[in-house]
Amino acid sequence: MPALERCPVCDVTVKPENLARHLQSIHPRDATAREVRGRIESDVNYAPRSRTAPAIRVRKAYIAAILAVALLASGAVVLAPYFDPYRTLTADSCISPTQPIPYHIHVLFSIFIGATREPVPYNIGITPACNKLIHTHDSDYNPSTQPAVLHVESPIARTFVLGDFFRVWGVVITETQVLGCRASPLTPVLMTVDDVGTTAFGALVLADGQDIVVFCGAAL
Ligand SMILES: [Zn+2]
Ligand SMILES: [Zn+2]
Repeated sequence: MPALERCPVCDVTVKPENLARHLQSIHPRDATAREVRGRIESDVNYAPRSRTAPAIRVRKAYIAAILAVALLASGAVVLAPYFDPYRTLTADSCISPTQPIPYHIHVLFSIFIGATREPVPYNIGITPACNKLIHTHDSDYNPSTQPAVLHVESPIARTFVLGDFFRVWGVVITETQVLGCRASPLTPVLMTVDDVGTTAFGALVLADGQDIVVFCGAAL
């Protein structure tokens, strides 16, 4: 909105671009009016505010366009998860035997209570009704003498942790307890990944080829 000016003769407010016409039609014989009109007509920069107005309008339209694009983009970001068919996928999800499984990793997992290997059962996470995403099979290891082979089979690559497997199995394995074995000051729970000690336990992110061992009840 351009600022208004006041007529130097009658003091009425007029738009700058209308001042010359006002002076001519309302005060045609007034000396001051004629002098001011002459000054306006010779000043090419007079009333710059009315000339800058369209530029401001263009800039406003530009800002409005940017805001509209930003609004659409944020809307897409907010709504995208609702179109993700795997948004509810967890380690407890059932995988269909006919579904393509592009993400398939294997992790070795052993438990020792004292000096004795604790067998990790076959077919954890597998029932006639549902093959859970993390599971063991019934033929690819000897539970009494070999590490279990954990299969992580997912329709999409996603981070899974060792705790997901414990949940599917339905057991408690933490830094204070492994199945029925409880940690004590002399027999702490220990965990290694590829022979390197870790305190990650259930938070350990599973990666293909890891060899995970949990120990409980062994004297230090
Ligand atoms: Zn597998
Ligand atoms: Zn499998």
